[in-house]
Amino acid sequence: MSIMVGMGKGAEMGILIKDAVALEILEKIKVLVIDKTGTLTEGKPQLTQIVACGTWKENDLLRLVASAEKSSEHPLARSIVKEALSRGLQLSEMKGFQSFTGGGVMAEVEGKKVLVGRIDFLEENHIKDIAPLQEKTKIAELSSRAQSQVFVAIDGTAAGLIIVTDPIKKSTPAAIEVLHKQGLKIIMLSGDNEEAAKSVAETLHIDEYHGNVTPQYKFEFIRQIKKNNHPVAMAGDGINDAPALAEADIGIAMGTGTDVAMESSGMTLVKGDLMGIARAIQLSRQVMKNIRQNLFFAFIYNVVGITIAAGLFYPIFGWLLNPMIAALAMSLSSVSVIANALRLK
Ligand SMILES: [Mg+2]
Repeated sequence: MSIMVGMGKGAEMGILIKDAVALEILEKIKVLVIDKTGTLTEGKPQLTQIVACGTWKENDLLRLVASAEKSSEHPLARSIVKEALSRGLQLSEMKGFQSFTGGGVMAEVEGKKVLVGRIDFLEENHIKDIAPLQEKTKIAELSSRAQSQVFVAIDGTAAGLIIVTDPIKKSTPAAIEVLHKQGLKIIMLSGDNEEAAKSVAETLHIDEYHGNVTPQYKFEFIRQIKKNNHPVAMAGDGINDAPALAEADIGIAMGTGTDVAMESSGMTLVKGDLMGIARAIQLSRQVMKNIRQNLFFAFIYNVVGITIAAGLFYPIFGWLLNPMIAALAMSLSSVSVIANALRLK
């Protein structure tokens, strides 16, 4: 009864509970592992700055990069393509597209070899003139936070740098504060680089963070915490979070995220608002308290009734129990449980 009412209450608050067990375990959670992009942040990165090197013009650089990345599903790539289209640039044909997980992409556009990705990806590919690019990076770093930097090389020479910013969701800071007050340790895992992860973690006062992580690492990380006997919840939105969401004691998916994340989770926050986690924990605590009260109501009539019916007080007071009272007590027990469960509303 309590869980049914609790799940209904959750739905009213935008928390869809697929797995009733999640509502039971959530009150015991001490550690919350959380994805960055799309979970703490909007997940809709915007291109905020282009730094062109040498003789390169901003728009030419953007056209080449957007052409190389146009078929990529990566959110950073999509923000670059979006910006190019909004500037009215004509994208060119692209050949020989190659994607390197955690590194970058490579393609041929307008007869030029375009490399886009992390700085170490450029270094691995022996790109010339990286040093001036690194100087520019430092200046860019001072000017904005919570950002990702995408480096560009054309025909073997560093050509520029594109800065993409993914704003933190408006509801996130308050939600983190409430979760801390509820006594949770919050750990952030991000596939983005260390600096981008650090900047978000510091802004939000997150207890621990790891950047540059793979989906496999997220999964192993959850498994490791579970091994140490700490019940753990994981919140995420992407395909890359799905294995970790399924492995955690409670997976919490963002309703604004991918279907596979929701499919792998016991709980979904419809609007992707993290305050939903704090509310769900509060709900879980209330539901479990209610269940304990209901156990009391279920047993107290029996404890009193059976004691008297068995004749414990007969020698002293001459008390025995009419079976009709027993029938009444059984009904009252059910009524008390139902009435108490409905109080959760
Ligand atoms: Mg994500």
